[in-house]
Amino acid sequence: MNEQRLSGVGMTSARTRDRLVQRLIEQGIRNPQVLECIRSTPRHLFIDEALASRAYEDTALPIGFGQTISQPYIVARMTEALLEAGPLHNVLEVGTGCGYQTAILAALVPRLYSIERIEALHLRAQQRLQELGATHVRLRHGDGYEGWRANAPYDGVLVAAAPPEVPEALLRQLAPGGRLVMPVGDDRKQVLLRVTRRDGGYEREMLGPVSFVPLQSGLVSDTGTAGR
Ligand code: SAH
Repeated sequence: MNEQRLSGVGMTSARTRDRLVQRLIEQGIRNPQVLECIRSTPRHLFIDEALASRAYEDTALPIGFGQTISQPYIVARMTEALLEAGPLHNVLEVGTGCGYQTAILAALVPRLYSIERIEALHLRAQQRLQELGATHVRLRHGDGYEGWRANAPYDGVLVAAAPPEVPEALLRQLAPGGRLVMPVGDDRKQVLLRVTRRDGGYEREMLGPVSFVPLQSGLVSDTGTAGR
């Protein structure tokens, strides 16, 4: 990829990215690896060019099909919560979206799988991650409610959309000691949850209120222009 496009200019430049990282530190993000990934990942390449000048604002932005790219603070918070007890080796992400969170995780874990139910978003993320050299990530057009059994068990699972309850399949696909970080709730009230699989069952921790798009079952396969 063109060097200037990758590093960004003006509102997508290194200085703008540094300011975002500074804000995340002020908001309590501590993990240096996570902060470095946020600094080095070109978020402007994951969104529409018309929105590129807002790429390093700490906000969610539309990516089409009624979905949003996650807010950098939330991406950092969830990644930090997932990694808190040490490095991870085999991770599942549900809700690839534009692939931004995927790119952050790709820099931190050796085996990464990600599922997206909207085919057009899945295809776009696949192309972008390839262009950025994240070739060890495996993406799938599928329903994350089912998890991805073939590569289980996972020592980390991250879900970027909110169901009313934690899906059973995702709990079953966690390795002993494995962690699941996800929002749970309805459209008005959601909480970020971390579930750790222990010998005797699942330990749940509440990490604070959040606002995500809903986790929906079933696939969207129309690759036409609907929603854009
Ligand atoms: N981290 C992504 C977040 C995208 S929003 C980003 O930064 O771009 C959440 C995504 O979850 C949407 O793309 C939505 O289509 C997807 N999603 C919702 N329900 C899903 C399901 N059951 N399986 C897989 N993906 C799902």
